[in-house]
Amino acid sequence: MYKYDPSSLKAEEFINHEEITETLAYAEQNKHNEPLISEIIEKAKKRKGLSHRDALVLLDCDIPEKNEEIYALAEQIKKDFYGNRIVMFAPLYLSNYCVNGCLYCPYHAKNKHICRKKLTQDEIRAEVIALQDMGHKRLAIEAGEDPVNNPLEYILESIKTIYSIKYKNGAIRRVNVNIAATTVENYRKLKEAGIGTYILFQETYHKESYERLHPTGPKHDYAYHTEAMDRAMEGGIDDVGIGALFGLELYRYEFAGLLMHAEHLEAVHGVGPHTISVPRVRRADDIDPDEFDNGISDDTFAKIVACLRISVPYTGLIVSTRESQKSRERVLKLGISQISGGSRTSVGGYAEPETEEENSAQFDVSDNRTLDEVVNWLMKLGYIPSFCTACYREGRTGDRFMSLCKAGQIQNCCHPNALMTLKEYLEDYASEETKAIGEKLIEKELLNIPKEKVRKIAQEYIDNIHNGQRDFRF
Ligand code: SF4
Ligand code: SF4
Repeated sequence: MYKYDPSSLKAEEFINHEEITETLAYAEQNKHNEPLISEIIEKAKKRKGLSHRDALVLLDCDIPEKNEEIYALAEQIKKDFYGNRIVMFAPLYLSNYCVNGCLYCPYHAKNKHICRKKLTQDEIRAEVIALQDMGHKRLAIEAGEDPVNNPLEYILESIKTIYSIKYKNGAIRRVNVNIAATTVENYRKLKEAGIGTYILFQETYHKESYERLHPTGPKHDYAYHTEAMDRAMEGGIDDVGIGALFGLELYRYEFAGLLMHAEHLEAVHGVGPHTISVPRVRRADDIDPDEFDNGISDDTFAKIVACLRISVPYTGLIVSTRESQKSRERVLKLGISQISGGSRTSVGGYAEPETEEENSAQFDVSDNRTLDEVVNWLMKLGYIPSFCTACYREGRTGDRFMSLCKAGQIQNCCHPNALMTLKEYLEDYASEETKAIGEKLIEKELLNIPKEKVRKIAQEYIDNIHNGQRDFRF
C-alpha cells in the first residue's frame, strides 16, 4: 500500500491516489463553507501559494461572491508578478513518428493514414528561418517517441542546428524541449545541448486512466512517466514544465495532481515547476474530443487558471493555440503568462503550409491568426508581448530564477527586457499598424520601470535597437 509523501521519489507516493480522493471529498464537503473559503483566500493574499487541499476548496467553491473574490485575487496576483507582459513562443514539430498508442493523439502508432514526416536538418533550417522571419525567439520543439526514427542524437543535432541559424536579425535564443520521458543520462545530454525548459505533460495523473489511455508503447509505464521530472532534475535540468491534458479525466483530479506534482518538485529539488500548461483535448485527424467524457466548459477552464494562478504565483502558466481567441482573452487576465502565436502543429508547416491531403498535424488549431495579428491584438488589450529569453541566457534558471521573482525584481528586469525585445520585433517584423501601436506602448511603458537608472539604460538600449543594434538584456 502506498502512503502519501511529497518527498518520496515513487510516483504513487507523491501523486497518491488516496490523498487525491480524500482531497476531492474534503473540497466537495467544504464548497459552501464560507468561513473556510474566506480563510483560504486570506492565506492566498500573502502570495506564498496554497496547498493542493486549500486550492481544491477554492476550485470547488460554489459561493458566487467568493468566486468573484477568487477571480479578483488571481487578476491582482497576475498583475503583481507578471505585470502586463505576455511571453511569446512557437512550437516546432520535428517528427510525428511515434511508437506509443495514446488514445487522444493522432500520432499514435496504429494511425496508418496520417502523413508521417521527420524533418531533415535542411528542412529544420527552412522552418527556423520561417519562424525567425515571423519574429520568434523562443521555440518549443516537439517530437513523438520513436527510438529508431527520433533517437536522442537526432534531437541533439536538431537543437544544434536551430541555435546555429542567424537569418537577417533573427535568432532562436531559447529552445524548450517536449520529448518523451527518458533517462538521466539523456537529460544530461539535453542540458549540455543548452535547452531551456524540459516540458513533459502528464496527460492524466489518474493511474488507471493513464494506463487505459496509453495501452501500448513505453509511455504505458505510469511510474516511469510520472518520475521523469526527477530524472530531468537529476540530469541537471532545473527548469521543467508540467501539464495535464484536460478532458481525459475529472478536472478536479488533474488539478490536485498538478499541484501535488509541484509540491513534490519543491520538496525534493527545492524548486517547483517553471511552467504549467493547461491544454484541453482538441479535434485532430482520427481523434474526436467528444469521445472523452470529461470535457470542461470555458467557465471551468477559467476557474482552473485563476486557482492555479493564486496557488503557484511564481510558476508561469501557458496556453497554446488549442484555445480560441475568446478563450485566450479571458484567461490572459486571470493568470496566463505565456502564449504561442502563429503556430503550426504539423511537421514542417512553417516554411510550406500543408495541403489537405498531407495533414500531419497533432491537433487542429483554434486560433489561426498570424504572429503579427496576435501581437497587435495583445497590445490593443493593453498587454506587452515579450520575446524575452534573458534569464536562461544569463544563467538565471531554477532557484536563481525564483530568487529574482521572490526579490520582487521582475519589474526592473522582465519589464525593460519585454520592451527591448518588443522593440526588436517592431523594427524587424511588424506591420505598419502594429509598429505604430507598439512604439506608443513602449514610450508609455518605459515610464513604468521603477528604478531611474534602469529606465535610462533601457531607453538607451531601445535607441540603439532603433539604430540597428540587437540583443540587449538585463
Ligand atoms: S501524445 Fe506523444 S507519445 Fe502519445 S502518440 Fe502523441 S506524439 Fe506519441
Ligand atoms: S527576464 Fe527572465 S523571467 Fe523575466 S521575462 Fe525575461 S526570461 Fe522571463
